[in-house]
Amino acid sequence: MDVRPAAGGAGTAYVTHADCLKHEMGAGHPECPQRLGAVNEHMRSSGLWDRVRVLDAPLASADDLKRVHRSAYVDLIFEHAPAEGYVQLDPDTAMNPHSLDAARRAAGAGIFAVDEVLAGRSANAFCAVRPCGHHATPTRSMGFCIFNNIAVAAAYALEAKGLERVAVIDFDVHHGNGTEDMFGTPEWQGRVLMASFFQHPFYPYSGTSNPAPNMVNVPLAAGSGGAAARKAVQDSWLPALESFAPQMILISAGFDAHREDLLGGMKLVEADYQWITRALMDVADTHAEGRVVSMLEGGYHLGALGRSVVAHVETLAGAAA
Ligand SMILES: [Zn+2]
Repeated sequence: MDVRPAAGGAGTAYVTHADCLKHEMGAGHPECPQRLGAVNEHMRSSGLWDRVRVLDAPLASADDLKRVHRSAYVDLIFEHAPAEGYVQLDPDTAMNPHSLDAARRAAGAGIFAVDEVLAGRSANAFCAVRPCGHHATPTRSMGFCIFNNIAVAAAYALEAKGLERVAVIDFDVHHGNGTEDMFGTPEWQGRVLMASFFQHPFYPYSGTSNPAPNMVNVPLAAGSGGAAARKAVQDSWLPALESFAPQMILISAGFDAHREDLLGGMKLVEADYQWITRALMDVADTHAEGRVVSMLEGGYHLGALGRSVVAHVETLAGAAA
């Protein structure tokens, strides 16, 4: 059994908030509060809950969000939160009266986690939040996402905390088009490296035509499993990460590439998420003083999601893998 203590010895932060359980987008919507409920339940039943530092996510400010979103978009979301019922933002994404706070907590979690890890209070962090973020573009919500949580965190690390290079990793089954839209621009190139694999062709049908030079995109066919995912990491992500030498690794951790998740068509299992997490931690240990901030994105089979988060966070926390 390979047991490795988390780098820094300060343990793993688990950043979450009860507001994230109150955001819901209507009956039958796959991005439902029960997802976060299942994650928390698996954290507790596995005993992992007692081995992480459970911390409340603060609200992100409008200024925090405006580092990556256009000002008019942030203002629109703040102004249009409904007092009752729903406001539909796009065909897949809606707000209820709790959604604005949930979305601000989700983005605030990443900022808080960056602070925790940079201050050395936690070796690394996982943000158990919703709504997810990686489809949200500078100017609009999309695909269940309101604010781009991982991009808000990455921009905070660079602009507010003075880091020079951060890597954003995305292993959700869907391409993180919003994150690519934000960081593929000349303003961020050289400061952000984004590496991802995703099912293709598949929603949102992006990521394959002329990606920006700081994007390491590996499209994978439906049916691809752990071997293909690990090969993408080994052959594409790791060489790029080694030469980029990030000072922090941020992870868009979606678990909808799991074989039990029927929203996607890939076939990863818990052991693949452990392996990927370990590989990223090794890069972080070499270049970034072990600093990893991971944020929940997709994952719609409640059991597979709960088990996969436990596998991921156990690895971050230095448990047996
Ligand atoms: Zn997804």
